[in-house]
Formats: sequence, C-alpha cells, structure tokens
Amino acid sequence: MAFLEVRDIVKSFGGLRALQDVSLSVEKGEIRAIIGPNGAGKSTLFNVMTGLLSPDSGEVRFDGERISGIPPHRVIRKGIGRSFQITNIFPRMSVFENVQVALFSHHRENRSALSLARNFREVTDEVLAILGLVGLAEKFDSSASVLSHGDQKRLEIAITLACRPKLLMLDEPTAGMSRFESRETIALLQKISREQGLTLVFTEHDMDIVFGISEKITVLQQGMVIADGTPSEIKANPEVRKAYLGEEIAE
Ligand code: ADP
Ligand code: MG
Repeated sequence: MAFLEVRDIVKSFGGLRALQDVSLSVEKGEIRAIIGPNGAGKSTLFNVMTGLLSPDSGEVRFDGERISGIPPHRVIRKGIGRSFQITNIFPRMSVFENVQVALFSHHRENRSALSLARNFREVTDEVLAILGLVGLAEKFDSSASVLSHGDQKRLEIAITLACRPKLLMLDEPTAGMSRFESRETIALLQKISREQGLTLVFTEHDMDIVFGISEKITVLQQGMVIADGTPSEIKANPEVRKAYLGEEIAE
C-alpha cells in the first residue's frame, strides 16, 4: 500500500458534487502537485485529507491507518502537517518564539518525558535547527510582524515543521507572493523534502513551478481526476491540454 492512499472520495455541498470518486496514491518522499482550474475541488480534497471535512464516502489512509473522518488535531498527530494561514503566526512574538511555542506544544501533546530544563535546552537547539532549515536563522530575534511576506511564509513552514510531519500538505503555498518569492519558497520546500525525506503534496497555479518541482501530478476537473502521472505524461496528455492547460505548457 502507498504511503498516502485516497480512495473513491465523494464530497458534496448541497447539490454540488465537489469531489467525485477521487483516488490517488502518493509514495513516501514524493513531491506531488494537485492542479486544476478554479473550483475543480483541490481545496476540498485538501480539507478532506487533513480532517477539516469528512467525506460522504471513500477513505483516506496514511501510513497504513485510516485517517478520513478523524478531527484535524489528531490528523496532525499522525504526522500530517498543513500550512497555516499567516494569521496563525503570533505577530508580536519573535521568529524564535513562534517556533518555540509550536515545538513546546508538540512535545506536550506527545507527552515527552524529558525534564523541563532538559526539554528547554533541547527545544532551543531544535528551534535553531528548524530556523536554519528554512533560512531564517539570522532573523531569529526579529518580530514576526516586520518580516516580508516571503519570510512570513518561511516562518509558517517552520511552525508546521515543528510538529514533525511526515507529510506536508500545502494549499497554494505561494499565493500572494512575487515571482521571486514564489521561486525561493518552492526551492526551499524542495530542499526540505529532499533533506528530510518529507513527502510533499501541494496545489499551485504557476505551471512553471508545478512542472519544475513535481515528481507526480494529479489533474482535477469538476471534482474528478482526469489525469495522473509524471510531468512529461501530464504534458503529453491530450485531455489535459484540451481541458485545462491549453497553451500554458505548449513547448
Ligand atoms: P479549488 O480549490 O480547486 O478552486 P474548491 O475545492 O475550493 O476548488 O471548490 C470546489 C467546488 O466546491 C466549487 O464549486 C466551490 O464553490 C464548492 N465549495 C467549496 N467549499 C464549499 C463549501 N464549504 N460550501 C459550498 N460549496 C463549496
Ligand atoms: Mg482552492
């Protein structure tokens, strides 16, 4: 069985079928993009995969366990990290403190048996390691509120990493960023995925980014998977070209 298995998910909102028999499998360490036009069902799928929504039918299995239908805080504990919105950053706290709080709460949730003093020292080291990973080590003392949009996004990723996820789910991680910031963020995610063996599932509008970083791509249209494969398979898929990508990926 794959690391992450989405099987025959159906989700309706009233009379609208947002997801119709959606299935996909993601292997450990894979970088997977989920693309499709606005309203295709990408965010709904993310919400089902992270426990914010229960599917009407079908199931999501992660690391051998069924996770669909369980609440978001328990999904996080199973090892699925989801990017937080900017509003989840504490603006008056420093960069360091934001990650520290996330780590303390992670350790508390996992009932770490460490003494408080030892815990404190280890948490400090862990915070610095995570900040190093996302390239914010030098700004550890800055107030989160003065960071650029791109750096806030890095901080958001750092906070998510503090929960020690095995799978990172990012719904439009580069929304609102300049092209330069988008590229930097994506390069960072790729580096983290490689260095930490982290599985990454994300949605993204910019096709250069999608085709530049993904190992596999799932294409959704009107709640259905119309294609699933490697970037070159997706590029060559006539249905995808017709339905969605159009000229955007023309060679
Ligand atoms: P995407 O992220 O691909 O743009 P969404 O998953 O946000 O698409 O939306 C899929 C469809 O479901 C859209 O038609 C949207 O209007 C509808 N939808 C999403 N969330 C809700 C909701 N909470 N209530 C009603 N309709 C919703
Ligand atoms: Mg969306």
